[in-house]
Amino acid sequence: MAPAVRIDPDYDREMRDAAMDWLTDLPKTEDGWVKQRQLEDFEFNGVRLPLMDRQAGIRKPAGFDTALSMRTVYTPAGKKPPYKDALGDDGLQRYNYRGEDPEHPDNVGLRNAYKRELPLIWFLGAADAFYLPRYPIWIIGDEPEKLQFVIAASEEQKPENTGPITTPTQRRTQERVTKLRLHQPLFRTRVLHAYKHRCAMCGLGYKSLIEAAHIIPDSEPDGHPEVWNGLALCKLHHGAYDSGIIRIHPENFVLEVREDVRIDRSAEPMLVHGLQGLHGKRLRLPHPSHHPDKNALLWRYNKVRGT
Ligand SMILES: [Zn+2]
Repeated sequence: MAPAVRIDPDYDREMRDAAMDWLTDLPKTEDGWVKQRQLEDFEFNGVRLPLMDRQAGIRKPAGFDTALSMRTVYTPAGKKPPYKDALGDDGLQRYNYRGEDPEHPDNVGLRNAYKRELPLIWFLGAADAFYLPRYPIWIIGDEPEKLQFVIAASEEQKPENTGPITTPTQRRTQERVTKLRLHQPLFRTRVLHAYKHRCAMCGLGYKSLIEAAHIIPDSEPDGHPEVWNGLALCKLHHGAYDSGIIRIHPENFVLEVREDVRIDRSAEPMLVHGLQGLHGKRLRLPHPSHHPDKNALLWRYNKVRGT
């Protein structure tokens, strides 16, 4: 028999704090991911309260009338996501209702967490059965006409800290925070994982020197935080790519070093080996399912050429 529902915001908050502390201490992969089955072991006051539902996207633990977590499933490259959790015009993230009934118990669970200003955990699908947890996040709005909730990805996005978001500057600020807190961490870990934490230009594998670079920058409308729009690059080659010193041919993935750099005769080792030596070499590609998108590469290639 399911335990009786206890409506006690303090008790609920205590359970959430314990869950988030437990999650912080949980062993993760080198990419910071957790496996779905690890999340089944959380206990609070001697009762097992899995942090993720096996079936549903929204987790409402037994004995509570509030949702504790939600998830977005991983969508493999080339597959259409089952639903889209979009960025709103105000720069804040949205999370879709379960189904089309605003009164579905899972949607009510999220709404109760919203009304009581309780923090939640969002599990972002990073790979099959692996998730990148982001927490605490809050629901700060309900849009039943669009079947979605409004998300604050950090304290600074809570209404008491933002006030009304009306000007373009305010919207851009919120969009920047959303990308920083939700989109970039997932992009980064997925790209680094795909490239096995090695620079796609030189093969360097020192983790602290490897970054996830966008092919189409995320300031552009098509600058999606997806592996097909990313490259793992060391700091030197990330800078060289962003500044146009090295470009990538979109058809054959061959690296082209800008001419003024190529003919520089100053003979410093980093110049000779780190830059000039890459001219004509081919990008080190990940598994074909993670290959960079040729149209994104073409966009960038033309941008560098100024066409
Ligand atoms: Zn490199």
